[in-house]
Amino acid sequence: PATPTDPRSDAPASAALLERATRVIPGGVNSPVRAFRAVGGTPRFIASATGPWLTDVDGRRYVDLLCSWGPMILGHAHPDVLEAVRTASARGFSFGTPSENEVLLAEEIVARIEPVEQVRLVSSGTEATMSAIRLARGVTGRSVIVKFAGCYHGHVDALLAAAGSGLATLALPDSAGVPVEMTADTIVVPYNDVPALEEVFAARGSEIAAVITEAAAGNMGVVPPAPGFTEAVRRVTREHGALLVSDEVMTGFRCSKAGWFGLEGPYAAGAPDIFTFGKVMGGGFPAAAFGASAEIMAHLAPLGPVYQAGTLSGNPVATAAGLATLRGCTDDLYPRLEVTARTIADAASAALAAEGVAHTVQWAGSMFSVFFREAKVTNYDEARDQDTAAYGRFFHSMLESGVHLPPSAFEAWFVSGSHDEEAVGQVVEALPAAARAAA
Ligand code: PLP
Repeated sequence: PATPTDPRSDAPASAALLERATRVIPGGVNSPVRAFRAVGGTPRFIASATGPWLTDVDGRRYVDLLCSWGPMILGHAHPDVLEAVRTASARGFSFGTPSENEVLLAEEIVARIEPVEQVRLVSSGTEATMSAIRLARGVTGRSVIVKFAGCYHGHVDALLAAAGSGLATLALPDSAGVPVEMTADTIVVPYNDVPALEEVFAARGSEIAAVITEAAAGNMGVVPPAPGFTEAVRRVTREHGALLVSDEVMTGFRCSKAGWFGLEGPYAAGAPDIFTFGKVMGGGFPAAAFGASAEIMAHLAPLGPVYQAGTLSGNPVATAAGLATLRGCTDDLYPRLEVTARTIADAASAALAAEGVAHTVQWAGSMFSVFFREAKVTNYDEARDQDTAAYGRFFHSMLESGVHLPPSAFEAWFVSGSHDEEAVGQVVEALPAAARAAA
């Protein structure tokens, strides 16, 4: 692959910024997947964004199929969200006291997801899952956490085991700097493998505080739960007195008004006990949450003994952006997102098929990814068994044609309500050349 300062780069201003960035920021980026390590070349430094369009510092415009890795469901700088942010920020940036927007955002979430009676607001998905795990351990008095290989739940020590995209992109097995003691109580089970889960519970069921799972996996590419899988997880956890944590940081308010739960739940064997949310509920600002029944949430300080806190939690500007975004996530948005996503995915599939490139498209609501392999993907091992070099060539051809895809074969593609005919048309037009490059 090309190096970050590749002279072939047609993004001189980005290349210049990257060079400065690498002196003061490790790898030049503040989150590893932004670095184009898997695909090579120069990450584009974005100067501005509106609707479905990104404009880089060289003045080039791209159709955005990254959507900030999920949050920008209404498109960039949506007028309603912008207005809410302007109004909120004019009133002050952070109070360190309770404020009205927190109540409104919490009410909006609770109204959408029936099993969630209360939420605690935090600032990132990582905080949400970290806190959910602590809560589950506090409620059950048990230590062991079960997670699935290929599921990413943020960079929580205990959950950085077989953790999907970011690590897969960099070909890292797990993270250094996580002492073995921190993952000693984490058991990793293959995704979609009920017998393996049952085996773990048969051996250690009485020690297990919780199973945490991505409601539909999006961090090894999109791998939805096989029919009956979530239900089986629910059944097994119930039988052994363990809690089920459904991580909807990516799927929440994205797959439907009530996230993946709105599509698949309530499961016959019962709803998950704890949910985590992020991304869309912040509308591009740092807002995330974890929630559960009032009974479970009563274990949290100041009511109970499980400690959790945050200087910027429930920040008035972030909650205003999140609230305006959720209010824009109306019933009619989701069918529109699906039509847009299907149009793009169908065109990608047709273009790749025309060039004889092995591929398969997988879905969770309007989230999808294109795996560069023939067979369906049901777990992490299968996700990693694809032609990532072909994806890199495909990615760069699309970028040259003005379409910004995720810079890794292990990521979901996202669309927004602002992706109009012009934007979708530009994507569709770019696909045949990208398929030829991939072949
Ligand atoms: N959980 C899931 C399912 C995610 O996709 C992510 C982020 O991609 C996280 C947790 C972590 O969220 P954040 O990056 O906001 O810390």
